[in-house]
Amino acid sequence: MPDVHPTPEARSLNFIEDIVAADRVTEKHAGRVLTRFPPEPNGYLHIGHAKSICLNFGLALRYGGATNLRFDDTNPTREDVEFVDSIRQDVEWLGFTWAGEFYASDYFQKLYDYAEYLVQSGKAYVCDLSEAEIREYRGNFHTPGKESPFRTRSAEENLDLFRRMKVGEFEDGSKVLRAKIDMQSGNMNLRDPLMYRIRRSHHHRTGDAWLIYPMYDYAHGVSDAIERITHSICTLEFEDHRPLYEWFLDQDVEGKFFQRPLPRQIEFARLNLTYTVMSKRRLLELVNEGHVKHWDDPRMPTICGLRRRGYTPGALRTFAERVGVAKRDSLTDVALLEHTIREDLEKTAPRRLAVLRPLKVVITNLAQGEIHELEVPNHPDPIHGTRRISLSREIFIEREDFQEIPPKKWFRLAPGAEVRLKGACLIRCEEVIKNAYGEVVELRCTWDPASLGGNAPDGRKVKGTLHWVSAAHAVNAEVRLYDRLFTSENPMDVAEGGDWRDTLNPESLTVCAAKVEASLGAAKTGDHYQFERLGYFCMDNDTKPGTPVFNRTVALKDSWTKPDAQVQG
Ligand code: ATP
Ligand code: MG
Repeated sequence: MPDVHPTPEARSLNFIEDIVAADRVTEKHAGRVLTRFPPEPNGYLHIGHAKSICLNFGLALRYGGATNLRFDDTNPTREDVEFVDSIRQDVEWLGFTWAGEFYASDYFQKLYDYAEYLVQSGKAYVCDLSEAEIREYRGNFHTPGKESPFRTRSAEENLDLFRRMKVGEFEDGSKVLRAKIDMQSGNMNLRDPLMYRIRRSHHHRTGDAWLIYPMYDYAHGVSDAIERITHSICTLEFEDHRPLYEWFLDQDVEGKFFQRPLPRQIEFARLNLTYTVMSKRRLLELVNEGHVKHWDDPRMPTICGLRRRGYTPGALRTFAERVGVAKRDSLTDVALLEHTIREDLEKTAPRRLAVLRPLKVVITNLAQGEIHELEVPNHPDPIHGTRRISLSREIFIEREDFQEIPPKKWFRLAPGAEVRLKGACLIRCEEVIKNAYGEVVELRCTWDPASLGGNAPDGRKVKGTLHWVSAAHAVNAEVRLYDRLFTSENPMDVAEGGDWRDTLNPESLTVCAAKVEASLGAAKTGDHYQFERLGYFCMDNDTKPGTPVFNRTVALKDSWTKPDAQVQG
């Protein structure tokens, strides 16, 4: 798919590519590269996940490998098919095709069998301590842990208890299965971590077949090994879990369930973006508490929200590439994301005329019923062709393009001033009509018929060019303008006693009753346009026949100045 995945800009390999390239030289996995993207289906994917998707699929594409999509559905209480479907759709939309589609729940039986092996070989035990006691016995970074009194149970007793856990002889929470590793370990994750807990809840795929569910740390590595993943890429918070990942796999090699070489866990820094929150839990709260309409609200950093906002898969892939792969957490400036979509749409989006806050202008020397059809370019690049627009006696201009008492260097409309109507002609403001409150409701202008096409034959200079639409031809449209969802660069960085919601921006959505040029009546959901002087817009799926709805993807002005993607190290 060369046009879908253009060759990344020439750059040196990142540290993960270095590892993969080195493994190929040594033929560690017989030259194979198999990565996986392992979402938990407990929410919609966000742009952080997009980063991980691009990284995993990108690596496989680069090295002639493949990528699995694996739903990490080991936690029955939070997961849902709705999320599975949306995740599939989002990965596809980003332009990637997965080799295998798997579910961690497919491996429940194997995970159970391997756990029995650990029990039988004295490497796992059933523990009756309560959750609070387990926490207390575990100690902390400064205090070594204490061994559970149940740690010395015989393998026979443990096997019997574990089997009885499985068939439902014990209450939820009354027993757990733990790996027997080292309660003195400096790494808290190795202090006899939990492998299984009893939980009577319905699973979205396995139904009520299981009463015990494996913990993430146990299930994840084993799932990787079952699929024969070569490079298991995850975010930095799992760095301290790597010894445990390796411990479980080493035991399973001893049990002859797997052969070396095993999958290798590699961590990278998660993507954080300014002016938003990224965790699914927080995003769920935004939806549930009504701060946004749904997961696909165009203000959300979710993939479906960005899609609805007008982001393209190509721009998200380019963004992921530009952010790069780091080993240290940082905050990426959202202006880089905006810059990337602007750059993408600049090349492809047809230009159109739309007026967000209309002010009526009557061209008094243009007769009633007199219509001038004008052919105007769709794009600065002539390859995009032309379209026809109509000029008539009554038009709309942007309210903010007129000032009764203009400041210095005002090149737009003012009493007595002359401006150009984009693609049409020159008009001069002759009279200002106000209502009883003193508000400007209409302008009376005259046009210079000799300027049809845009310039005056006498060569007089007119600096200001305004966008406009013909009143008789315009289509009413709802246009939604978005601002940042939070006013704080890092909403999670809250002061003592504060709440991350404190900096939610009450003005993140502005709705305009706009007038758009006639050709936009034929626009389709998902179509991208540049509305001249206003930004890039995308037709929303709320559009009903006769009432188009457009979302502003991004304004034209680019605030991306930093040469380096990271604003905070
Ligand atoms: P969240 O905290 O938002 O719920 P998660 O890590 O729990 O995210 P998973 O569904 O478990 O979400 O993640 C699937 C994959 O996406 C994992 O490999 C995870 O490391 C990666 N991922 C999640 N968030 C980010 C992020 N912000 N940047 C990069 N990768 C991420
Ligand atoms: Mg998670």
